[in-house]
Amino acid sequence: MAETLEIRDLRVNVQDTEILKGVTLTINQGEIHALMGPNGSGKSTLAYALTGHPGYQVMGGEVIYRGQNILALPADERSKLGLFLAFQYPVSVPGVSVANFLRTAINARRKSAGNGQSKPISIPEFRKLLREKMKMLNVDEAFAGRYLNDGFSGGEKKRVEILQMAMLEPQMAILDETDSGLDIDALRAVSEGVNRLAGPHVGMLLITHYQRLLNYIKPQFVHVLLNGRIVESGGPELALELEEKGYDFIRVKHGEVATGKD
Ligand code: ADP
Ligand code: MG
Repeated sequence: MAETLEIRDLRVNVQDTEILKGVTLTINQGEIHALMGPNGSGKSTLAYALTGHPGYQVMGGEVIYRGQNILALPADERSKLGLFLAFQYPVSVPGVSVANFLRTAINARRKSAGNGQSKPISIPEFRKLLREKMKMLNVDEAFAGRYLNDGFSGGEKKRVEILQMAMLEPQMAILDETDSGLDIDALRAVSEGVNRLAGPHVGMLLITHYQRLLNYIKPQFVHVLLNGRIVESGGPELALELEEKGYDFIRVKHGEVATGKD
């Protein structure tokens, strides 16, 4: 089955306002794509729509992954197919520890994988895996026992998101502003985790407002979203051009008014 994520002419409304106005983007296995764009251009809307958030109404288009239009599937089915989203604003789940949450997530994936790994992960095996990944990501072991994201700092939430990704080993990962609010050490740790997961069998969409993240994680393709449409696509040089000229340059080039904001 093809493990390419193919977004075709995707149109999405939020509260009856058209936000995505026909987005087409193909991410193959082994490719890292960066999606950049000013605030409010619709980047998070794309991420939420891909993972099936109920507040985002799909008005048209399709998203093909592993031979099916995943827009017809509930969010948990999409995740079981190997799709992963790290949220810009991770939610907290008081009463559920990080370890419990991760074990439940791994077992849900295993159950549906049907590859001989369908039995739940044993506790010792889980602990070993968790310890290994926490070490790799520089996450303090005490986090395992804390309630998910409850009172976590911005940087801690992002690390735990990447920890979740490292544990689940998705085949298609969408990271929404994983760099926002991180100091340089957290950014390094998070990027290292992402880079270790990347490889020939994994596709990635890195959503970011800033070029900074791309110093640590190197995409082969860069796209710019403006007002719900991808208006530019290119290689890493496009991100550098944006860094230098700013988003107003793109706005003016595509017939919009400069805002002086970013
Ligand atoms: P970005 O991630 O590029 O900053 P978003 O996708 O978050 O952009 O937002 C795109 C537009 O959709 C904005 O105008 C924003 O106000 C609107 N929007 C997004 N999510 C919601 C929501 N849950 N409720 C109301 N408006 C929303
Ligand atoms: Mg956003």
